[in-house]
Amino acid sequence: TEELLRRTEKLNVAGQLAAGIAHEIRNPLTALKGFAKLMCHANEDSRLRYFQIMQEEFNRIELILGELLILAKPQVLAYQLHDVIAILREVIELLNTEAIISNVIIDLTSELDLPLVRSESSQLKQVFINVIKNAIEAMPTGGNLRIIVRKMANQVAFFFEDQGQGISEERLPRIGEPFYTTKEKGTGLGMMVSFAIIDEHQGHIEYQSKLGVGTTVLIQLPASV
Ligand code: ADP
Ligand code: MG
Repeated sequence: TEELLRRTEKLNVAGQLAAGIAHEIRNPLTALKGFAKLMCHANEDSRLRYFQIMQEEFNRIELILGELLILAKPQVLAYQLHDVIAILREVIELLNTEAIISNVIIDLTSELDLPLVRSESSQLKQVFINVIKNAIEAMPTGGNLRIIVRKMANQVAFFFEDQGQGISEERLPRIGEPFYTTKEKGTGLGMMVSFAIIDEHQGHIEYQSKLGVGTTVLIQLPASV
C-alpha cells in the first residue's frame, strides 16, 4: 500500500506540474497568436510595437522552459568534493551588477577551514543564484544581504539573511510549489528547482521570515569528513 501511495503521490505531482506548464506556456502563446494576427493588418508603427511585445512573450516562454530544463537535467551529473565558498563567491560576482542596481550590499562571512561538500557544482550554483536573486528582489529599495557560512555538527550551514518585505505565515508553506509566485514577472520555479537539488544532495533547506523585517533562508549540506 505504501508503494502504491507513493506512486499516486508522484503521479499527482507530475499532473500538477504538467497542468502548470500547460497553463504558463499557453498564456504567452495566446498573446503571440493574437499579436501575429494583428500584425497582418497593422501599419509600420504598430508593427514595431507588436513586435516588441511578442519579443517579451517569446522571452517568457524561453525563461520558463530554461528553468524546467534544470529540473530535467539531461546533462551528466558530476558529484565532486567542492569548496563551497568558491562557488558562492562566483555566484555573488555574477549577481553583483543586479545587487548594485537595487542598492543591495552583499556581505559574505565564513569560517576558516570549512570542510568540502560533495556536490554537483552547476546545480549548487543554481540554488545559490535562485536564493540570492530572491533576496535581491525582496529588497527593491535596497538593504543588506548577509551570508554566513559555518560548520554545524557534520553539516555546512549557509544562512542568507535579507532585509526584504518578508513572507507571511500563510504564504510560507507555498514556497517551492510549482509556479507559486507573488511577482509580476516571476515564474515560481526557482525554489521548486532549488528544493529538488538540495534534496538530491541529501541536504536541508528552510525559511524563516518576519513580515516587514526580512527573511532568512537556511541551507544545510552534509560535510565530507
Ligand atoms: P519567483 O522568484 O519567480 O517568484 P521562486 O520560486 O524563486 O519564484 O519564489 C517563489 C516566491 O517565494 C516568490 O514569488 C516570493 O513571494 C517568495 N520568496 C522567496 N524568497 C523570498 C525572500 N527572500 N523574501 C521574500 N519572499 C520570498
Ligand atoms: Mg526566484
